[in-house]
Amino acid sequence: MFTFRKNNSYLFLNLENLLFITRNNYSTTQHTTTELRNRRVPIQQTSNWINQQKQNFQSHGNFSCRKRNMSSSGKTTQHFNIFDYDIIGFDLDCTLLRYNLQEMIPLEYTCLSNSLQRKGYPSDKLNQPLNLDFLQKGLILDAFKGNVIKLDKNGTILKAFHGEAAISDEEIERIYGSERKWIASSEFIKNPMNTWNGPYAEQMRTLLDYFDIPISLVMSRAVASLNQTNPPSEYRVWDDILAGLFEMYKRENFHDGSSEYFEALKNNPEKYLLKTDPKVIEWLKDLKEVKGKALFLLTGSDISFANFTASYALGENWRDLFDSVVCYAKKPGFFVENDRPFFRVDLEKLEETEEIPRSERLKYHTTYSQGCWSTLKDLLKEKSGTSEPKTLYVGDNLIQDVLCPARFANMDTVAISEEMFVEGVPVKKEVKTVYNSVTSSSIWGSFYKLDDSETIWYDIIKKYSKICIPTIDYLVDLKQLEDAQFYPSPPKTN
Ligand SMILES: [Mg+2]
Repeated sequence: MFTFRKNNSYLFLNLENLLFITRNNYSTTQHTTTELRNRRVPIQQTSNWINQQKQNFQSHGNFSCRKRNMSSSGKTTQHFNIFDYDIIGFDLDCTLLRYNLQEMIPLEYTCLSNSLQRKGYPSDKLNQPLNLDFLQKGLILDAFKGNVIKLDKNGTILKAFHGEAAISDEEIERIYGSERKWIASSEFIKNPMNTWNGPYAEQMRTLLDYFDIPISLVMSRAVASLNQTNPPSEYRVWDDILAGLFEMYKRENFHDGSSEYFEALKNNPEKYLLKTDPKVIEWLKDLKEVKGKALFLLTGSDISFANFTASYALGENWRDLFDSVVCYAKKPGFFVENDRPFFRVDLEKLEETEEIPRSERLKYHTTYSQGCWSTLKDLLKEKSGTSEPKTLYVGDNLIQDVLCPARFANMDTVAISEEMFVEGVPVKKEVKTVYNSVTSSSIWGSFYKLDDSETIWYDIIKKYSKICIPTIDYLVDLKQLEDAQFYPSPPKTN
């Protein structure tokens, strides 16, 4: 996830959301190496909107304020039963459909690396073989210093790398102080909105899903290249990486053939996408048609890309699985802002069209674009027959799909984390492929814990999700679970 500055304001974005960007302000000009070293990063003012989100978050509390059921002994208890919920929502990418990470991660790396080389970055480092062991979900970039870091739940730096080289404990303390804390990450711990957009977003980038995890290696190698001549006092590699991401993911590029990434997927979908298991599809039908649950799909992808991937993974009639489909949803703002308009979608042209007047009610079995949770909830609760429906949301992005819907929209959430597979969790036969080389890292250690320290992501899973599962397949047979955070079993470093 990261942010994109446009017209002096900040928009919520992550890689998924990049699929709908309408245009960008980035030059494709090639830089000289001197320019690459000497460009400085401006600190921008926060927008009113961001300040509003901060206030919302503060009014809801910080990371530590999510409440759980407590037993008489004071021990946290958990109860999960999917039939308790009236409305059930799903993320699409890496939730209802999976990617072949063994193929997709190298493709992403190559696209980004090629983009930097077109901007003048030397090829010697960037063209080295892809080191998957350097990648891990949840790593954080210190963009100015060119460092990649891993944080614990208190914002303490557990590990850090610069230009693919480990930074020693002594050096971490020299750079970040004896408490090993960085002001941007400390702000993130207090309130993720402090760094999602605004001045700290210029310094700190969080790599939260399989669309963005190759960035840690791309940035490290670009930094190492710059260091070979005259290391800059402040790096500006991130801006060039962001420009490369726009080349890859801008939604217009899906149709016009200018994205190396989209073209690869369109030309060879079976190489990059996995078919969702038929049991999952039948389970969705049962929840909607037999059990009478109101089902919705909520994705940051534009309708063009969502239709491409969902048609492959879920079948041509994928939209029929849901009572409502919302594309281009701009999570997490979708869950936070209650006055965002919906837009119509032309299903023939597969594009967003005009804004829907606020006086017009949404309809069932219709695909929309953008919008907000409060309006969608008004539609879906009609099916539930209750004015206060219980809602569950299932997704893999721990900020957008877990923390924010739980914190701001009063939803329960199920977190998806394929990293459980490398932690001794049994693999169901329906899960035909696991990607341990992508989801494990001897360099960074466990996604959940390092030695005795819980990572920031493990902390979010515990505080904001009802349960955490490796893939959606595990939810199909799970009707009820008592007093457990993970299913089918906790990761070995739990
Ligand atoms: Mg996702």
